[in-house]
Amino acid sequence: MRPHLMRELVPAPPPIVHNQFAEVRELFNRFVVPSYGRFELALSHGAGSYVWDVAGKRYLDLGGGIAVCALGHSDPEITEALVEQSRKLVHVSNLYFQEPQGRLAQRLVGHLAPGKVFFCNSGAEANEGLYKLARKFGHDEGRFEVITAVDSFHGRTLAGIAATGQEKVKKGFEPIIPGFRHVPFNDLEAMREAVSPSTAAILVEGIQGEGGVTPATAGYLLGLRKLCDEKRILLLVDAVQCGHFRTGRFQSFQRVLEGIPGAEQFLPDGISMAKSLGGGFPIAAFWVREEAHGVKLCDALGAGTHGTTFGGTPLGCAVALKVLDVIERDRLADHVRTTGDLLKARITKLSEDHPGVVKSARGLGFMLGIELQDRSRIRAFSASDKPASIQFVNRLHEAGVLTIPSGNQIARLLPALNLPRSQAEEGMDVIEGLVKSLA
Ligand SMILES: *Cc1c(COP(=O)(O)O)cnc(C)c1O
Repeated sequence: MRPHLMRELVPAPPPIVHNQFAEVRELFNRFVVPSYGRFELALSHGAGSYVWDVAGKRYLDLGGGIAVCALGHSDPEITEALVEQSRKLVHVSNLYFQEPQGRLAQRLVGHLAPGKVFFCNSGAEANEGLYKLARKFGHDEGRFEVITAVDSFHGRTLAGIAATGQEKVKKGFEPIIPGFRHVPFNDLEAMREAVSPSTAAILVEGIQGEGGVTPATAGYLLGLRKLCDEKRILLLVDAVQCGHFRTGRFQSFQRVLEGIPGAEQFLPDGISMAKSLGGGFPIAAFWVREEAHGVKLCDALGAGTHGTTFGGTPLGCAVALKVLDVIERDRLADHVRTTGDLLKARITKLSEDHPGVVKSARGLGFMLGIELQDRSRIRAFSASDKPASIQFVNRLHEAGVLTIPSGNQIARLLPALNLPRSQAEEGMDVIEGLVKSLA
């Protein structure tokens, strides 16, 4: 650490002189493609799990940038890693070797099982690599199809929307890329029936995120593995949101399968990662198992078959390595597990005490959902035609807490993995206050 350097690079936020929200929104209205529905909120800076808007109002961030900011905002160790590495090397082409990428791959493999890692820049791109892996794997037998789940989310590229099991992301972008089909999630029979001679892979999220915080069941995961082994199909897991210790284990399937007899050996053939991997710095990856169905799968994508300019830059890898260091050193997996259990217990209690507002608690660790009743059943929400999830999230903004809507009825909590217990309690107190006022 060089204290003088840190001071230079991380200046104290300037004092707020006036509310710039209208100005910032005008810039967006005029110059930014309007592809997002945004909340009426312009954020200016953050520290830990607090962020401030341009008017100086403080919020407790329980959304974590949609499961991205693993160590919260402006983490000094991330800043330090960025500074240190950027003084040495920010980017070199993948035509050359460089140590940080090799080290990060080694660490990720160490958390999983023998295999190899490809680095890219976004969740959609990581999944894209898995589709190409599946096609390469099945190519000589004429197999290419990837079966995914209804209500899944796999990203916004053309193949991503083809893979995603939600009609709304496909609308207006037809013709949809062929080779993807969807069957109901957690329904092993439906998957078994869907497998055809063209099927090369099955891709599922460990916990459906955008689809409403639904974990895969243990029986489903084990059944998929068995089905894939029988039919020589690849089992691929999209861990972009649910991975990277979010459930209290490195992978959500490890948590789901804990204590289940015969589950110790469970392993998918490929896993995509992004979101929390860089703690806010854009970096993504997929891991490929060493061997699958008698093929050296980790070498299936040979020289010249796949690539991306910015994949695994020294800078991105140095930051991701630092994020892993801190998670391991501070035992954040254990913290996420105990604090996540506590949060879930409090949401469950809310659903018992106020069933007219909260229907259920969903999820695991720091990937939690507050399932709300339908808008029409909550009196304060029935006047507006906005979904209950959006109205709930908006009310929480007023109360100084950020959460993420999922579908029409779920508010998601995806906080930083280092969210202190006291702040988790503080956030739940605000949520409880809102639920009581709505009851
Ligand atoms: C966010 C997400 C993606 C897409 O990631 P991008 O970085 O936005 O491309 C893919 N799959 C899941 C499960 C996600 O949550």
